[in-house]
Amino acid sequence: MAQSKEQRILNFVLQNAVRGDPQSVVDTIDKYCSQKEWAMNVGDEKGLILDKIVEETKPSVLLELGTYCGYSAVRIARLLQPNACLLTIEFNPDYAAIAKQMIEFAGLQEKVKILEGPSEAIIPQLKKKHEVDTLDFVFLDHWKERYKPDTILLLECGLLRKGSVILADNVIVPGAPEFIQYIRNNKSFECTNYLAHVEYMKIKDAMEKAVFLG
Ligand code: SAM
Ligand code: MG
Repeated sequence: MAQSKEQRILNFVLQNAVRGDPQSVVDTIDKYCSQKEWAMNVGDEKGLILDKIVEETKPSVLLELGTYCGYSAVRIARLLQPNACLLTIEFNPDYAAIAKQMIEFAGLQEKVKILEGPSEAIIPQLKKKHEVDTLDFVFLDHWKERYKPDTILLLECGLLRKGSVILADNVIVPGAPEFIQYIRNNKSFECTNYLAHVEYMKIKDAMEKAVFLG
């Protein structure tokens, strides 16, 4: 059977990156996806915004919606304090399997747990099944029509606390207009927009940070 693009990305990393070195995994994926085949990783430019917000927030309990090949999971986890943990949700089993190998190759398997299934089914299980009290940081990067309902679900499940940070990717391309309208008109959130470009392209895109005020 022909290899998928995601398998080709993983193979390129296995052959060219340094095992146990997350930065080299991130750099090698960026090299492949900017030079050989485009892929929907957050990428190097928006990755720097993500890094800055993770570093400012100093989160211990993190959630990512949309793992894909594990690029942003590796990117985030490489910055975490010793006892911090990133839960990342992915409903495509092929992508989850690639991400597992990517995260293990980067040496981050103790910090990152992949939860396989749809976000809307897993979020309500986070407290009881995965022992989460509240989330310090949430990265929204799954299908864009789920940004708003999953943010509401996080609130309904009591997973946000005063100061929890939500960072949403791709708020211009493909865009998440319902989420943007909801979050900017909600007095419980303080929003900031970060202009950048679509991963590995010159087209404008942006990320939206929303801090929950309680
Ligand atoms: N965050 C990744 C990165 O930057 O490396 C990229 C994630 S990619 C843009 C979006 C991923 O979300 C896809 O792998 C897709 O299968 C997954 N996805 C979309 N909707 C989902 C849902 N409701 N639950 C779980 N996974 C979902
Ligand atoms: Mg994205």
